[in-house]
Amino acid sequence: MGCNALFAAVPPAIRPDAKIETRIEKILGRLTLEEKIGQMCQLTVSMVTDMNDSGHPFISDELLDTVIGHYKVGSILNVPFDEAQSREAWTQIIGRIQRRSLDCLGIPCIYGVDQMHGASYTRGATFFPQGINMGAALNCELMRRSSEISAYETRACAIPWNFAPVMDLGRDPRWSRMWESYGEDVCVNSRLAAASVRGLQGDDPNRIGMYRVAACLKHFMAYGVPVSGKDRTPSSVTRNALREKYFAPFLECIRAGALSLMVNSSNNDGMPFHANRELLTGWLKEELNWDGVIVTDWNDIYNLYERDHIAESRKDAVRIAINAGIDMAMVPLDRDFCVYLRELVEEGLVSERRIDDAVRRILRLKMRIGLFEEPFPDTSKFDRFARDEFAAVALQAAEESEVLLKNDGGLLPLPKSARILLTGPNANSMRCLNGGWSYTWQGERCDEFADRYNTIYEALARKFDHVTWIPGVEYGTPSENWQVERVRGIGEAVSAAADADVIVVCIGENSYCETPGNMNDLNLSQNQKKLVRELASTGKPLVLVLNEGRPRLIGDIEPLAQAVVDILLPGNYGGDALANLLAGDANFSARLPFTYPRWPDALATYDYKPCQKRGTMEGEYNYDAVMDVQWPFCHGLSYTTFEYGNLRANLTEFRAGDTLSFTVDISNTGDCAGKEAVLLWSSDLVASLTPDVIRLRNFEKISLEPGETRTVTLSIPASDLAFVGYDGRWRLEKGDFRIRMGTETLFVRCVETRVWDTPNIP
Ligand code: BGC
Repeated sequence: MGCNALFAAVPPAIRPDAKIETRIEKILGRLTLEEKIGQMCQLTVSMVTDMNDSGHPFISDELLDTVIGHYKVGSILNVPFDEAQSREAWTQIIGRIQRRSLDCLGIPCIYGVDQMHGASYTRGATFFPQGINMGAALNCELMRRSSEISAYETRACAIPWNFAPVMDLGRDPRWSRMWESYGEDVCVNSRLAAASVRGLQGDDPNRIGMYRVAACLKHFMAYGVPVSGKDRTPSSVTRNALREKYFAPFLECIRAGALSLMVNSSNNDGMPFHANRELLTGWLKEELNWDGVIVTDWNDIYNLYERDHIAESRKDAVRIAINAGIDMAMVPLDRDFCVYLRELVEEGLVSERRIDDAVRRILRLKMRIGLFEEPFPDTSKFDRFARDEFAAVALQAAEESEVLLKNDGGLLPLPKSARILLTGPNANSMRCLNGGWSYTWQGERCDEFADRYNTIYEALARKFDHVTWIPGVEYGTPSENWQVERVRGIGEAVSAAADADVIVVCIGENSYCETPGNMNDLNLSQNQKKLVRELASTGKPLVLVLNEGRPRLIGDIEPLAQAVVDILLPGNYGGDALANLLAGDANFSARLPFTYPRWPDALATYDYKPCQKRGTMEGEYNYDAVMDVQWPFCHGLSYTTFEYGNLRANLTEFRAGDTLSFTVDISNTGDCAGKEAVLLWSSDLVASLTPDVIRLRNFEKISLEPGETRTVTLSIPASDLAFVGYDGRWRLEKGDFRIRMGTETLFVRCVETRVWDTPNIP
């Protein structure tokens, strides 16, 4: 299936289940208005828990009486507690909420969390690489499997709803949440997010079973391209790009059966997404006939009043958002939402019909995830929690997602006998390997629960015979002046270099998330660069290991290194993966999921509009010639070499309803086994709207032994080659398309022009 694949299974992606629908109507019939409105309210756990004397969260009966007895709230969301929870603590807290909810309302409460890379608020759970790494790994089956394990371990804590996956296109490296996405590309985000939905929910969204969780698609939409680069600030995306690019991953996930979706906190060209009836009700619920739940992001209904200035009061904000199509309000800070909404219904400003629609969706979600059948899952049954087989998948994901960007003179792999000097702020910490949403929002406590895992230093020390670790410098900020005490760290590292055969410098970022991760300079900090410069002056070969959630600029120090590896945010097994890769016990196979910029003022994505004269450009993949990037999107090296040959197509001329298949032979011509992400690219040579220079349309990862040749076929519906015109309508136009796989190219011709409205091709 292709990446946009916009037209196949809509409507509806999930067939409604007759039994569930009958049951919903029965329950709805007996609910009072207050009870219905309560279902639409989601409170944060800190409003439901007190702290006991030793600082541990517990739920008092009084608080439960207020929240569930009085306000009748239907959902609770977690903000991570002060300490990582045990499975038992989770089960106990959620059990108490559930018991009270069933006693009061006869309806189970739905508890939701942000588990972005594993059951990451639970001690001992398996932490996978973050989304940006999965974008680099380009392995849909691995994505599905790791999400399946995340779901299992999440449900093992009695949590049935996960606010993941994130499919915002991460197209601006200044954005502090780029690492939660699968990178800059539409196809990569669509395919991987859909694979994640299948892993989290399984194949039957009507009955996801006790070992799965409901997915929540984030954040609808264009959240990853704030004009200012700062989190939660406005985007300015054209309507045709919204349709064609930003909507595509959501559509693909809805087709995969996604049960819920969260809305972008900010606005596009002044229209807040939480107030956008056309998108929420029009595109999602009416065009797609989608019957899932739309939940707000944090406090975002009130933000229509407090921040966006499009509502006259908080109550007015509730009116606007609910009428736009919001089903559930994440109202972390107060409980007046229920009061306002009730008044609005009584005043005739919100219809009961709208309330019933929202409540039906919420009850449907609760039934689909089995909460009515098993409100208290027997979590002791989850005996595969954190098993070695799960760790093996996390290690594989880390190995497949660390990108070899440069390897001059074949410096890597390093012999096990090499005397290694290891230095840099990222060399000996679990926190920077995991990033945010790890035990806590900002991920700052990972090192406290790290007994079972290896930092880069610990992993390298196990793998190689001689590893010396010198911290070198701290992170610092890009503009920071050189500080005296840090010189000592560098001096120590430089002296130690005398006894080393090779220097491995681990630099990058520490963990962060959302607005605390906002920045004013994409450059890597001066002190880290200084460390690299001084080490390079020793003349010893240098390996740069970048550990970062977004590409920090290193243009001035990159030439000083013989090898560069970007490990991104590889999770708890990222250090072990790096040791295996550096030693040649595993082979690199990852590709950059974003364009790595060289200059702060030259930010580009690979699918830009041509800006060079025909002949010098014309569909060629050479945007670095125009934008001077550090490394292009999908750059990534291996210890082996692959040769492509004999590209052929099933059709040379095609029409809108056809499926196009492209077949190519790939040989491993090196002397070690390797994995190769086979990529299918297309360029529309002439169109009525300037076409993107090139687009990735499909991919598949394969393994090849040395000397082995495999034939790979990648297919796409012809409609994937359509674009959205200036009038907001889909267009597949007559003319030639250049297709590329590896070094091979061919041309196919579309012989009819078709124009249609999303989502169905006529
Ligand atoms: C984030 C969401 C998250 C929510 C609940 C918000 O600040 O933007 O991604 O799901 O908090 O934790």
